[in-house]
Amino acid sequence: MAAMTMCPRCGSTFLQPLRCEAKGSDVVVVELRCPDCMTWLKAPHTRADMRELDRRQAEFRAEIVSQYERLVAESMEALADCWERALALDLVSADDFVVTPARDDRSGPR
Ligand SMILES: [Zn+2]
Repeated sequence: MAAMTMCPRCGSTFLQPLRCEAKGSDVVVVELRCPDCMTWLKAPHTRADMRELDRRQAEFRAEIVSQYERLVAESMEALADCWERALALDLVSADDFVVTPARDDRSGPR
């Protein structure tokens, strides 16, 4: 028995452990979901397999968080570049920041 780390249907390695249920002293039945083909399956795992699943999940989470932070930084830099260019071309004025009062539609056409 080894930790199930690949979807048997599509080969994705992003299987997500959802629920688990102890079956005996060293066997845990884990419900897994494949986010790529939406397959749900149950597979028996040992405690050591569970530690491997936990380790992989923590590793993938760290990867997602670091990619997310990199993308946010890139996006903010792109916005700052646009802002800088708009200011240099004098395309921004106080009018761009006017707060428009909410229109009262109950009063009908003016
Ligand atoms: Zn799959």
